[in-house]
Amino acid sequence: MFDFLIVGAGFFGAVFAYEARKALKKVLLIEKRDHIGGNCYSYDDSETNINIHKYGPHIFHTPDKNIWDYINIFADFNKYQHRVLTTADDKIYPLPINLTTINQFYNLNLTPDEAAEFLKSKISAVAKPTNLEEKAISLVGRELYESFIKGYTIKQWGRDPRELPVDVITRLPVRTSNNDIYYDDKYQGMPTGGYTPIFEKLLNGISVELKTDFFDKRDYWKSIAKTIVYTGPIDRYFDYHFGKLSWRSCRFEIERFSLNDYQGISVMNFADQEIPYTRIIEPKHFYPERAPLSRGTIIIREYPYENSDEPYYPVSSKADLKILAKYQKTQKKEKNVVFGGRLAEYKYYDMYQVIAKALQLAGKIAISKHRKGEK
Ligand SMILES: Cc1cc2nc3c(=O)[nH]c(=O)nc-3n(C[C@H](O)[C@H](O)[C@H](O)COP(=O)(O)OP(=O)(O)OC[C@H]3O[C@@H](n4cnc5c(N)ncnc54)[C@H](O)[C@@H]3O)c2cc1C
Repeated sequence: MFDFLIVGAGFFGAVFAYEARKALKKVLLIEKRDHIGGNCYSYDDSETNINIHKYGPHIFHTPDKNIWDYINIFADFNKYQHRVLTTADDKIYPLPINLTTINQFYNLNLTPDEAAEFLKSKISAVAKPTNLEEKAISLVGRELYESFIKGYTIKQWGRDPRELPVDVITRLPVRTSNNDIYYDDKYQGMPTGGYTPIFEKLLNGISVELKTDFFDKRDYWKSIAKTIVYTGPIDRYFDYHFGKLSWRSCRFEIERFSLNDYQGISVMNFADQEIPYTRIIEPKHFYPERAPLSRGTIIIREYPYENSDEPYYPVSSKADLKILAKYQKTQKKEKNVVFGGRLAEYKYYDMYQVIAKALQLAGKIAISKHRKGEK
């Protein structure tokens, strides 16, 4: 009998498995894909030695020293600091909107204080924004919103920004300094060997069965473990009883060039609605320290689309949240199953947040029981 059967080899499942094993628990992990790592899976391109993130670019960043120390047990990190440019109306600007963006866009030469005053004059005060558009206009004014945010948002979410909740935009800071580092977090970087070796270390010594879907033999898996840690989609677990939750997905188009450098930066956004992709990733820039195997670069165009069977970003519409509440109520009655991670919680989490959540759960149900001497 296993103490834990873990469903899913993403960060939630792998960190939980590592901690449970450390606490001398008997653990089996199953994963329906043919690889570990969940959506953080990466591989080295054999022709160029460029590390590719199969499910979209992942930059490790956290304000939390404990999580930074924890992840550094499993990997060395380079000094990468994330910067993003955006193309809007055939010109290139830094993102998040900062002093340079404002000066370039309005063809001005403002100081930081002048820019703050200038922005105030552009902003339409909205006492209590009720949707993304109102919120964005209350932060940057209509002109910057129309050029930098509106088209990108429509492509990303496939919805009118007036139908989207306010909290989608709170993640976009606006600066009147020239700081162009995307994340404010104290700790950031890229694992020098990519993400997959982190998972290999986390799962070292743990039995892992790949290409194994929990739902193909649900009763069997339940019969061989005292507790199931489920990190798959919550609606799937309950056979979509209350309906399907909606997710935005992403299609990736990879192209190779014999150039050394295609765009000079890892991420270029495309704000104009007419351009069908949202961004172009050039992954070699995540690892400036890597020696290339051959001349050449790879770019990846991202095309968002709606697909709840290939979940990337939870849409979290009012209808979704109603459905989710029903699943969460039912989940509480489920015996010997715990739910965790982005799919089971229907929530966008950064990697450090998922790691923190998995550590918290492991502390509660794996390590503490072990310390009390439970068998
Ligand atoms: C495009 C994109 C870019 C991102 N960029 C960043 C970033 O730059 N920085 C950052 O910190 N975070 C980023 N994230 C978030 C990051 O991907 C998540 O925080 C992380 O992957 C969550 O880990 P998880 O274990 O919860 O889920 P996942 O990684 O999705 O792992 C869940 C695993 O469960 C498996 N599974 C599901 N159902 C079953 C089943 N029935 N049977 C067996 N296995 C099953 C899945 O195959 C999957 O491998 C990004 C997310 C996306 C979508």
